[in-house]
Amino acid sequence: MRQDQQEINMKKNVINKTDIKVCCTNCPRECVMTVHLKKGILDSVEGEGCKRGKKFAQKEITTPERTLTSTVMVECGDKACLLPVKTAAPIPKKDMALAIDVIRKTRLTGPCLMGAVVIPNICGTGVDVVACRSIKEENHAC
Ligand code: SF4
Repeated sequence: MRQDQQEINMKKNVINKTDIKVCCTNCPRECVMTVHLKKGILDSVEGEGCKRGKKFAQKEITTPERTLTSTVMVECGDKACLLPVKTAAPIPKKDMALAIDVIRKTRLTGPCLMGAVVIPNICGTGVDVVACRSIKEENHAC
């Protein structure tokens, strides 16, 4: 099923429901909230542990986002290894599959510093993919 169709179906599901469960991913507490809807619009939230929960719930029923973590192949001298990377901020869930494909096809040449931008503006989201650790030496042993 195409990503756009999945999003349309999700919005239909939200509009047709009056209560949905949402798990907040903002912190390790992972509060499970009940979101009460009126005609697909957030009316009230129950079960949030702090005020960030309501903001998360609002975003989750309209344009859900997640931080993407993955690895990129880095060639360093005559060796190659996988560099852990992540998006510098959450990106829309609808762009995840395409972003994973872009990351999977990316090849870098080392060395590489932690925090360096590996892929700028991935999939036009305005968010960069950054390195989560450094590969400092040539012929780095991974
Ligand atoms: S609602 Fe607040 S306390 Fe609960 S998981 Fe989200 S950020 Fe953490």
